[in-house]
Amino acid sequence: MPEGEFWNPEVELLSGEEIRSLQLRRLRAVLERCGNSPFYREWFREAGFDPARVSSLDDLRALPFMDKETLRGGDPRRFLTVPLEEVVRLHSSSGTTGQATVVFHTARDIDAWTELVARCMYMTGVRRSDVFQNMMGYGLFTGGLGFHYAAERIGALVIPAGSGNSKRQIQLMRDFGTTVIHVIPSYALYLLDVFRELGLDPRRDTSLRIAFIGAEPHTESLRRRLEEAYGIKAYNSYGLSEMSGPGVAFECPFQEGMHVGEDSFILEAIDPEPLEPAPAAEGGERARTLHREGMPLLRYRTHDLARVFPEPCRCGRAHRRISRIKGRTDDMFIVKGVNVFPMQVERVLLGILGVGSNYRIVLETVDNRDEMRVQVEVSGDLWHGEVKELSQLRRRIAQELRNEILVTPVVELVEPGSLPAGEGKAVRVVDMRDHARGE
Ligand code: ADP
Ligand code: ZN
Repeated sequence: MPEGEFWNPEVELLSGEEIRSLQLRRLRAVLERCGNSPFYREWFREAGFDPARVSSLDDLRALPFMDKETLRGGDPRRFLTVPLEEVVRLHSSSGTTGQATVVFHTARDIDAWTELVARCMYMTGVRRSDVFQNMMGYGLFTGGLGFHYAAERIGALVIPAGSGNSKRQIQLMRDFGTTVIHVIPSYALYLLDVFRELGLDPRRDTSLRIAFIGAEPHTESLRRRLEEAYGIKAYNSYGLSEMSGPGVAFECPFQEGMHVGEDSFILEAIDPEPLEPAPAAEGGERARTLHREGMPLLRYRTHDLARVFPEPCRCGRAHRRISRIKGRTDDMFIVKGVNVFPMQVERVLLGILGVGSNYRIVLETVDNRDEMRVQVEVSGDLWHGEVKELSQLRRRIAQELRNEILVTPVVELVEPGSLPAGEGKAVRVVDMRDHARGE
């Protein structure tokens, strides 16, 4: 591995064994501080858990899992292990699955998080000579400030563009020679239509070379589509506000899974049912322990589904990798008795020529039965082309979807740009069935 590829070789090049012993050291320090938190004192007592007796990482398994529900159930200050005066910032989750959860940070927490994200960005090749345009929402959402400070720490020129305002985004890219962007993948796809509208080609008319795409599930096909259309490398970036935000798992240049920052998180694979720790290779859902000073979370269940790759990576890092996220357990829907993840639909759609930038799944009750309608934007050329081609496309989509999900959906082809494209996380499923509306 050539020199200079590592932001912090000391941490990045730890062996698996060294990582485990660092984790145990840090875990014990966290557990000790948890004694200051009213929540944890009670949590430990109820579980009959004595933090002082933890002598291996496995001992942590005596604690029950926490998840968003645990955080939602009361004042978030009860998780604090430091006096409130030491807290310098709060962030919250996006609220995709219900009430948003709040997380507090001390100055040291912010510093550690910044280091972590800087390390991830540097790993993919971001340097001080880069111009970094952050197209994520600033504010409570962690994707804005999390990347912002990290890019500054590397010394890149940062354009805090925030989300939305597509034409201005493109203008900024062109005016200041943006080389790196951070963007929600569904928005990056949508932005291609805006480029086209302006008669511009991102490959020719920008200096982009790297994109960080994250915050929502997306398929390999979507990534490839973005890489081709923009002429860039697109790296998958995973994080959640409860674990500070971006930087939890991140792709290296090999793009074969995302490295978990195992110096900061303990990765635990569990099967969603029956909630037992699963052997690493089998994957399932991931629970994590965060080594955070202000508001550490122990055995936090993400409800995000992924597999763990235990083999070492070609890049030389022993930090284990996880697969791209298949979805959250909450994303799965059941239609006509079949379990479906939106990403299965995306994988099929984006593999078909003529499919445009956006799609949406609408579930309805028709004659007391479930109906799945898939609305698909088609490419501009096709929309203005022949009716025969459109009906062929429609049939092909229905057939390929049926092969993948075993349910035949109603496919509705719609005009490019006609489906709602938000600035934040894409809403892929609209459930209007009677039971979903509480009828
Ligand atoms: P919320 O949980 O309300 O959406 P966050 O802003 O904290 O709030 O988002 C974290 C969640 O976003 C993760 O738990 C995961 O479901 C999703 N997510 C983040 N990054 C990715 C990614 N790269 N791939 C798939 N899903 C992601
Ligand atoms: Zn790697």
